[in-house]
Amino acid sequence: MRFSFTRLATYRRCAFQYRCRYQLHLPAPPRPMTRLALALHAALATFYRHLAPTPRLDDLLLPYDAQWPDELIERDARAWNEGRALLIDYFQRHDGHWPRVLFTEVPFTLELGRYTLVGQLDRVDELPDGSLQIVDYKTTREPPQAPDPFQLDLYQLGLAAKTGRLAERVVFSYLRHGIDRVVPVDDRNLRLTLERVERVVAAVESDDVLAPRVGEHCKRCDYIDYCPAQRPDPLPLPTAAPEGQLVLGL
Ligand code: SF4
Repeated sequence: MRFSFTRLATYRRCAFQYRCRYQLHLPAPPRPMTRLALALHAALATFYRHLAPTPRLDDLLLPYDAQWPDELIERDARAWNEGRALLIDYFQRHDGHWPRVLFTEVPFTLELGRYTLVGQLDRVDELPDGSLQIVDYKTTREPPQAPDPFQLDLYQLGLAAKTGRLAERVVFSYLRHGIDRVVPVDDRNLRLTLERVERVVAAVESDDVLAPRVGEHCKRCDYIDYCPAQRPDPLPLPTAAPEGQLVLGL
């Protein structure tokens, strides 16, 4: 089986939501900010991939603009403008402190016996002392959260798959909030990291109930009308679609 981070993270958040999204493939409403998030990620990847000794703001804005069509509907035009403002702020905050970048948007595949872990790291830098840092761009409007140890584990496994090394720190770069949250990684034991991820995979595979788990995340759930924990008379679930491969994306 094939697992992505997004898929495992969904299961850990709520198994019923996981069932709706990945087993029943229930449609979710379109999210207008997805386009902006993709454009920001693509622009930053291009910028860092061709990082000049003295970068100019246009090195960042031009690849961003290239992600959008010439004619934009009003909603997309607002998103485009917002993204430009975020990138200008990003550039000004980092100008003069550009890192030594090893990889941008690096996909990885980790074959782990009976399952495969797949994902992508936004960026990997080498620090002046030779240690590595993983950078993850966040486009959420939510206030920055304490990092999820599970996410750190998966990033480390991805990096180990690519380089054979683990990172000394992970930087969560919150583009909307204008901050970089640096998280030192004290636990750099590859075997223990792997064991923790395997426990989540085993839980997914053995869970026949896939029960709802109510929490703050319910406010943003696409499947609340189907949820027996939230509706006295939920919409009926369709007949189960054939289970495809499990995928977990970083
Ligand atoms: S509303 Fe909450 S409990 Fe129900 S499926 Fe969504 S996340 Fe799970």
